[in-house]
Amino acid sequence: MTGDPHAPGPTLHPETLTVAAGYDAQAHHGAVKPPLFLTSTFVYPSAQHAKAAHEAYFAPEPPTAGPRPAFIYARLDHPNLVMVEERLARLDRAEDAAAFNSGMAAISTVMHAFLRPGTTILHTRPIYGGTDVLIHRQLSQFGITPVGIEDGLDAVSVRRAAAAARAIGPLALVLIETPANPTSGIADIALIAAVADEIGRDQGQRPVVAVDNTFLGPFLQTPLEHGADLTITSLTKYAGGHSDLLGGGVSGRAALIAPLKQLRTVLGSPMDPHTCWMLLRSFETLHLRTERAGSNARVLAEFLRGHPRIAQVNYIGFREPGSAARTTFDRQCRGAGSTFSFRIHGGEAEAFRMLDRLRVIRMAVSLGGTETLICHSASTTHYAVPPERRALVGIDDSSLRISVGIEHCDDLIGDLAQALEAI
Ligand SMILES: *Cc1c(COP(=O)(O)O)cnc(C)c1O
Repeated sequence: MTGDPHAPGPTLHPETLTVAAGYDAQAHHGAVKPPLFLTSTFVYPSAQHAKAAHEAYFAPEPPTAGPRPAFIYARLDHPNLVMVEERLARLDRAEDAAAFNSGMAAISTVMHAFLRPGTTILHTRPIYGGTDVLIHRQLSQFGITPVGIEDGLDAVSVRRAAAAARAIGPLALVLIETPANPTSGIADIALIAAVADEIGRDQGQRPVVAVDNTFLGPFLQTPLEHGADLTITSLTKYAGGHSDLLGGGVSGRAALIAPLKQLRTVLGSPMDPHTCWMLLRSFETLHLRTERAGSNARVLAEFLRGHPRIAQVNYIGFREPGSAARTTFDRQCRGAGSTFSFRIHGGEAEAFRMLDRLRVIRMAVSLGGTETLICHSASTTHYAVPPERRALVGIDDSSLRISVGIEHCDDLIGDLAQALEAI
């Protein structure tokens, strides 16, 4: 903590925290905005200070109170990293947070920290393409077995998958991606966390429950309040928000974040000072961007739902009242976000014809930027996922994913309308 008398207190709203948390102007010559510390290393005032700094950094139990230890080298820690982590922790309503140089660096560090040869990982389906490759191609070479949950809203299905995982080896990690990218499938975090508790009692050690919160971001969903141990976010997406940086974050109890920070040092994946500085600035408008993109997305989803060339719209806000998905969504989320997938009547050829006619909406992977982006999932984001696993979760050649930005929604609808004529 900064010890700043103006530091925002625990009762403040997230909109206020995004602007102020994690930065103490008085500690920086009164500069209203955070300086950027472009330095890879830090000078010690004396040899004794140097020893003390290393002692503090490598202590098995990092001190929870008192002045923070001196900086040593930017791969270990640096001032802009501290600012980003304090702000992210406050937004995720967590004790502490760790920032990485990409979302995948955050995810792979969590896997390194909690999985061991012979253990299993239970995950919802579908899972982000990069995560899918990591667990199926890389971790499987280290004797770690992934088991997918068929329906993350159904207790029987979750318990069945957990039992299958336990039959192979100790269940060490549960990874929930909700809403799922790109299908917007919903999983019940509290339900899965409760099953993790049961397994913990059974096997003597509770698996760590992590939620990939990228699809909605910190303003619309707080997984830690629903029983998750860790919230993982690709900060590249909504938090960064301008498609001009890469970053990842993990938030949770200090005791779980400390080993991630130690691993990050040796894996070499901390967020760099300049990215931290840009991200701190992006956080300030996160709520405004989330609101505007969210309202645009609803209008676009409604336009598409009524269009004769569209077969299906997977917008979360359309989930049927009374359904398990709807009930869980209402309990777990504060909004439907601004990324969703839809299916056209036709296949790859029709989808490509439509995409090639767009003029305002740009064709690119990624999501959460100020600009509207669209992509054909099967041939881009899910290219590396085998067609059988794609089909299992409802991604085929007619599926498109759109990340709605903050433009005027009439221009977006006009562009989609003229492009759909090409189908
Ligand atoms: C983009 C994304 C990631 C990976 O984040 P990067 O910053 O690209 O490494 C992980 N999970 C989800 C759901 C994503 O959309």
